[in-house]
Amino acid sequence: MRRGGVPRGRVLFPLPRHRSGHGFAPGRAARGDRRRGGGACLDVPDTVIVGGGVIGSSIAYHLARLGAAVTVYDPAGGPDSPSATWASAGGVRSQNRDPREWALTVEAAGRWPTLAEELEAPTGFRREGQLRVVERASDLPPVEERVRHERAAGIDVHMVGPAEMAELAPGLIEGLVGGSYTPGDGQADPPATARAFAGAARRHGASFHIEPVDTIEVRDGAVQGIVARGRSVPAGLVVLAAGAWSVEMASSAGLRLPIEAIALQMLLTDPGPPARLPTVTAEGAVLSLKQLEGGELLVGGGWPAAVDRDPLACHVTDQSRDGNWALAARIYPAAAERRIARSWCGVESRSLDGVPLLGPLERPRGLWVAVGFSGHGFQLSPAIGRALADQLAGKSVPALDGLSAARAAGETEART
Ligand SMILES: Cc1cc2nc3c(=O)[nH]c(=O)nc-3n(C[C@H](O)[C@H](O)[C@H](O)COP(=O)(O)OP(=O)(O)OC[C@H]3O[C@@H](n4cnc5c(N)ncnc54)[C@H](O)[C@@H]3O)c2cc1C
Repeated sequence: MRRGGVPRGRVLFPLPRHRSGHGFAPGRAARGDRRRGGGACLDVPDTVIVGGGVIGSSIAYHLARLGAAVTVYDPAGGPDSPSATWASAGGVRSQNRDPREWALTVEAAGRWPTLAEELEAPTGFRREGQLRVVERASDLPPVEERVRHERAAGIDVHMVGPAEMAELAPGLIEGLVGGSYTPGDGQADPPATARAFAGAARRHGASFHIEPVDTIEVRDGAVQGIVARGRSVPAGLVVLAAGAWSVEMASSAGLRLPIEAIALQMLLTDPGPPARLPTVTAEGAVLSLKQLEGGELLVGGGWPAAVDRDPLACHVTDQSRDGNWALAARIYPAAAERRIARSWCGVESRSLDGVPLLGPLERPRGLWVAVGFSGHGFQLSPAIGRALADQLAGKSVPALDGLSAARAAGETEART
């Protein structure tokens, strides 16, 4: 587990005692207007979600759909610069993920094609596949092994040879030895998807406030609610889903979460003639290259931008821009004929081991987290919302095993 970057201090990262079973406490009725709630009305505490990016909005939708009373707070009122959802490349990728995310990624992959219909609003999803190219023969055996495991986990992925790759993506660099291909992957529009979740959540009775949460209120080891613009708002449950801002928000509840704020940047070219091109990534290289509907190339893959503080923001660096662009032009030489028209960055929370922290904390009771997406939370967003809503409703959710806050135990002890 990586240890750098998280502030040191005496405040511990509390661990949940159980993986599930932290469901809604009985005895307090939900107050939501469940006009279209299809499920049973739960006897639940009122829930405040801190953050209305794609993750907070997905949780709001899935919870409200179950009949819970949900209120979302976000100062931006939706995805805006420099949030991760605003900046995101929108890659819908199910391959080359940490095994702990496999169950969620399979579930999400199954939902993307019909998500817009379900939410009654566009998500911009386009199924164009993702091709992860391999340049060195020595890299092939581990990729083949990964693909075997992913297939066994239900991910729709297979190996392709050079001839098939040339068919799938004409114009790639010569001499590639193979690749792994996920035909069901593609891209979507992150701000539109967040708005679609939020709109559907509203139709199920959730309310959204365009205000920042100042602090999470804790008394006697339990969450009491939040303070927004100096006003106390009682809540039985608070879900922290404020992306990179979660680090500060958690400290308002006396916690140091094992996450840090990072920034990632993107490049967009001017439009060019449409080509046959799935999203292209490369084994052993930091690259993601996709073609947008207008023929522009969107280039990224995880190149760092610089993080600014007070207020939290970011700026693009020349070093990352040049490195990313050189790599894109090497793997896909036609990119070199384009001009970079725009670049931007967004802030994201990264966990110590690169996968999200999802679920309840032991203390304070009533505080749940959905943080640490580490640059790849967008594809998972439909499944994250479903899984956390079910867990909040008291169901056992095996897909969250391995992603619970409990795995931070080693880090916590290391800092005591
Ligand atoms: C450049 C870039 C490219 C990416 N590309 C991909 C990709 O191709 N595929 C993929 O799967 N993932 C990708 N990701 C990751 C993905 O976009 C994120 O994991 C996901 O958007 C995280 O959503 P979020 O809702 O947790 O965070 P955010 O979108 O950052 O939302 C956090 C929200 O909290 C709000 N907030 C801040 N302070 C407060 C407060 N005090 N009170 C209340 N609310 C507050 C903010 O206004 C913001 O709206 C990328 C990320 C970046 C930065």
